[in-house]
Amino acid sequence: MTVQTPILPGATLGVLGGGQLGRMFVHSAQSLGYFTAVLDADPDSPAGRVSHHHVRTAYDDAAGLAELAGLCAAVTTEFENVPAPSLATLATRLPVSPAARAVGIAQDRAAEKAHFVACGVPCAPYAVIETAEQLAAVDARLLPGILKTSRMGYDGKGQARVADAAALAAAWERLGRVPCVLEQMLPLAAECSVVLARGRDGAFVHFPVQRNLHREGILAVTEVHAGNIDAALAAEAVRSAHAIADGLDYVGVLCVEFFVLADGRLVVNEIAPRPHNSGHYTIDACDSSQFDLQVRTLCGLPLVQPRQHSAAVMLNLLGDLWFDVAGTQRTPAWAEVLALPGAHLHLYGKRDAKPGRKMGHLTFTAADARGARDAALAACALLG
Ligand code: ADP
Ligand code: MG
Repeated sequence: MTVQTPILPGATLGVLGGGQLGRMFVHSAQSLGYFTAVLDADPDSPAGRVSHHHVRTAYDDAAGLAELAGLCAAVTTEFENVPAPSLATLATRLPVSPAARAVGIAQDRAAEKAHFVACGVPCAPYAVIETAEQLAAVDARLLPGILKTSRMGYDGKGQARVADAAALAAAWERLGRVPCVLEQMLPLAAECSVVLARGRDGAFVHFPVQRNLHREGILAVTEVHAGNIDAALAAEAVRSAHAIADGLDYVGVLCVEFFVLADGRLVVNEIAPRPHNSGHYTIDACDSSQFDLQVRTLCGLPLVQPRQHSAAVMLNLLGDLWFDVAGTQRTPAWAEVLALPGAHLHLYGKRDAKPGRKMGHLTFTAADARGARDAALAACALLG
């Protein structure tokens, strides 16, 4: 179903998935005066706990989906691996964005890469491995490489770095011979991403290009300030992201991740059909956040190019910080961190801290990069 007239505040907006991204969507929607409904089986889900309605079923539960559709004027998703057929089912009853087709492509690395190629945007040289024949036929020039499961991978999970053909065969075996893509290991100089929003009418706006630092496959730090990324590369990243979104006829907020190679070339890595961890700084450093734009695209409200008003450094807060070196549980030094200039603490209300689990993030805003960086470094020292 398409929206002809905007869905105005006072209506109820639904989100499939109750994680932190859903929670921040709920916060944005509620501040605009919408009611919210979250579908997530976990009674303690971060978004479910702050939403007006919480449907506690699996993502593919027909009764749960019908209940959500009955409550809502429109539905979005926060969870990349939400079954695309669930979105398609909902879309027969009410407006849904992003669409099942776009989400389905983003969920499958082979389809995603084929889309990049179709859009003329360079990505890492790769091969699809779904059969033993394809494995045997792999071009040796793709090695050393990274073998990634086509579906369900995130935060570096479902991946293996492989040096040669024997290691590749062993890794595919270990991954359960599921469909995979093998990518050539590229020499990375930097990683960056672009968060964009595209409306039903094709209107396109975007946030500045973010520079990202990953640790063990998980985003650790995002920095966004002038001079952060070479201007020509940043412009190319925005053009490529625009082409990728147009090619999907995308409606909603989309994140496109890129690699900057040692020789200065830009290649696309992957897309996320939703707001993204690297865009969390937009809540505090921009005049509209990525979640505000998710609400606007869902409701068919006007999209205005967002403006970054402060330099920003965002630190992810993983569950590891809740334990000291001896492994004893502790409370991080929040009061001390909040004494630092420009500190914005966001905790997701997750019940249990576990190593590697995303518990929250901390954004430092300042007039310039130096100020944001100094405060972020001081926070790292305090959080140990
Ligand atoms: P995920 O879905 O888990 O985020 P990614 O494909 O983004 O998986 O890979 C996680 C990280 O691994 C990337 O951010 C990057 O640091 C590294 N990486 C992934 N693919 C390559 C590659 N082809 N060459 C070099 N590094 C890579
Ligand atoms: Mg990634």
